[in-house]
Amino acid sequence: MKIAVIGTGYVGLVSGACFSEFGFDVVCVDQDAGKIDQLKAGKIPIYEPELDTLVKRNTERGRLSFTTDLPRAMVGASAVFIAVGTPSRRGDGHADLTYVYAAAETIARELKDYTVIVTKSTVPVGTGRRVAEIIRKTNPSARFDMASNPEFLREGSAIGDFMRPDRVVIGCETEAARAVMRQLYRPLFLIETPILFTSLETAELIKYASNAFLALKISFINQISDLCDQLGANVSDVSRGIGLDGRIGPKFLHPGPGYGGSCFPKDTLALMKTARDAHSPLSLVEATVSYNDDRKLQMADRISTALNGAPAGKTVAILGVTFKPNTDDMRDAPSLVIVPELMKRGAKVRAHDPVGIDEARKHMPDVDYFGDPYAAMEGADALVILTEWNSYRALDLTRIKKLLKTPIVVDLRNIYRPDEMAAFGFEYTSLGRPSVEPVARVKGVA
Ligand code: NAD
Repeated sequence: MKIAVIGTGYVGLVSGACFSEFGFDVVCVDQDAGKIDQLKAGKIPIYEPELDTLVKRNTERGRLSFTTDLPRAMVGASAVFIAVGTPSRRGDGHADLTYVYAAAETIARELKDYTVIVTKSTVPVGTGRRVAEIIRKTNPSARFDMASNPEFLREGSAIGDFMRPDRVVIGCETEAARAVMRQLYRPLFLIETPILFTSLETAELIKYASNAFLALKISFINQISDLCDQLGANVSDVSRGIGLDGRIGPKFLHPGPGYGGSCFPKDTLALMKTARDAHSPLSLVEATVSYNDDRKLQMADRISTALNGAPAGKTVAILGVTFKPNTDDMRDAPSLVIVPELMKRGAKVRAHDPVGIDEARKHMPDVDYFGDPYAAMEGADALVILTEWNSYRALDLTRIKKLLKTPIVVDLRNIYRPDEMAAFGFEYTSLGRPSVEPVARVKGVA
């Protein structure tokens, strides 16, 4: 079977590469000629672990190819996946569907034989039907069915998530469409992945409800961690204590600087808009969004407090600028709020990130970037850990102590232990865990 995937970003490229790995013929299409040229030359435009190997293997086997030419890509395709971006629309937070509708019109003009048109992009409830209307209007004789197949992969572990998902959700309403989708996901049926067939609207809503729930869970533990700070409780133990309850589960219970990334911020806003328009507002999601916005600024306050309330004229070394580890994606990263806020308060910022510097530079050109984490710390008044890259988990603390002008560490991912940091003489601030007096100060040495 042959498929075409429109949009060769994080989702389209990963989906296309994985479907080709399953054995299907896949043509990935993008309107960005630069991106397609890179892919044709064997270069992967994004950082995603293992993606390069998968793309290389399947292009060599002739099952995966790249083009800007949608009409050619569609020849003989049984399914066309729409995996274009759906960013927030300026002003009202609704998903901007310009790219989806533009793709729908182009597809419509090229439809020849029966084809299943699949929305893989995250799209508000009703979009699938709207796409069908556009196709019918543009090409009244087209033979097609719509399907909604939202994607749940996480950047940083996208290949594993696609190949071994918790579930696959498929909204479609004809047996013909179900048959095509079933065949495409047959390799996952074989490993007993739950596959849910639903209506178009239900599939579209499942995606938003999942992301909103996860955003809410993260915000919940962030608020609990603030409460721990006030009460002297330890959020790591609270997380473990509640996460061991099978009804709650341990994931997404790690406090941090607020959620970010290409999905949660825009998808919560879009769901809020959908719910308000449907006269069924989601007050829990609204509270989550507003708390998360505040949280990022609160993190700037914490860093200022660690600098004795006087960030002006101080130098802050930041480790990690991407919204999470194992990706170069900077979309809505908490660093994009926290770092400019520190600079607004008069601090100078030096930063390191294992793969995100090129992207970060586009958004925050006034930061000094370093290719080595220790170089970023040299002479800084404080070190802030903002993204929990694995390479930051076992830093040389003795070396850091020597490099920093003052031994202040603000760990917004709780990757170090307060007692360990105190033993090295750091004034260490983390989230929701009682601090321990630095050893040197306890002894009255420094
Ligand atoms: P992206 O911005 O990385 O990629 C989108 C690509 O689509 C771009 O390369 C763009 O050039 C291309 N494009 C836009 N219009 C086009 C057209 N008419 N023809 C051909 N190409 C076109 O986006 P992404 O992160 O891959 O997200 C895509 C969708 O998947 C979004 O709806 C997003 O919410 C959803 N999603 C993303 C993730 C994630 O982790 N990134 C996870 C699940 C779902």
